[in-house]
Amino acid sequence: MNPFAYITHPDCARHEIAPGHPEQPARIASVDAALRGAPEIAAALSAIEAPLAEPDSLCLAHDPDYVSTLLKLEPAPGEFIRLDPDTAINSYSLDAARRAAGAVMHAVDEVVLGKTARAFCNVRPPGHHAERDKAMGFCLFNSIAIGALHAIQQHGLQRVAVIDFDVHFGNGTSDILRDHGNILLLSSCQYPLYPLDEVPVAGRSEINIILPPESDGNAFREAAVSQWFSALEAYAPQLVLISAGFDAHADDPLAGLNWQADDYAWVTSEIVRLTGAAHGIVSSLEGGYNLDALGQCALAHVQALIA
Ligand SMILES: [Zn+2]
Repeated sequence: MNPFAYITHPDCARHEIAPGHPEQPARIASVDAALRGAPEIAAALSAIEAPLAEPDSLCLAHDPDYVSTLLKLEPAPGEFIRLDPDTAINSYSLDAARRAAGAVMHAVDEVVLGKTARAFCNVRPPGHHAERDKAMGFCLFNSIAIGALHAIQQHGLQRVAVIDFDVHFGNGTSDILRDHGNILLLSSCQYPLYPLDEVPVAGRSEINIILPPESDGNAFREAAVSQWFSALEAYAPQLVLISAGFDAHADDPLAGLNWQADDYAWVTSEIVRLTGAAHGIVSSLEGGYNLDALGQCALAHVQALIA
């Protein structure tokens, strides 16, 4: 068994929303450089090339008309096609988004088949705002939701935990997975903040930690202990998927929480500790827009993931 699978693709660093946009190609290189700078991780980092998710796989989480409409778009080199006020594609974007979903699906396969116990997908665009029939918030296809539904449909898993600690609420993941009988959905987010007009209502198997602006990592830790962990432990997931956004960091330009890299290490270690009976953990990059903080936080997360 490999100790760790690291999955990425060059197209994920070619997708662009607009010149100078914070959800930028350099995010992939920042994460990659931070991981390669740590000797204990670099030794385990033989990058696996993310496969291209097929349209049928995208339709696990998305409306077939949405998938086919999006895949028919063909931006010319240098052209941007706008999908919503925050979301646009260039000529690489659809392949990048298919690679991001393919990365999570491949990671799920590796973990469920016992080839590795932990996987990290260094991919963009992010996915957790993409709803069943709508691109939004920099997101095209909901990679984590696709991975979760692939685990259930392809591998017959009964209990999949999806944990989203991105600072923004994962409305797309909630839209697609909420009240699914084989999913426990745990999320944390700042409120008020995009995309929330109001506090999200918890579903039957959905627990949302709501954090006020300027709150620090300790506030999150207390909430995770009191709201997430007993539910996670009791659920005894067979597989854990993490929407790993690092934009709750104090230096992030798009949000107002004050987490530090240590907080990502802590929550990751706790998830590892509480879900030891699972096949393993698949984590995929979501947000994180200060390039230095993004690298530090991704490193802390992956170090804890493979410890
Ligand atoms: Zn975010």
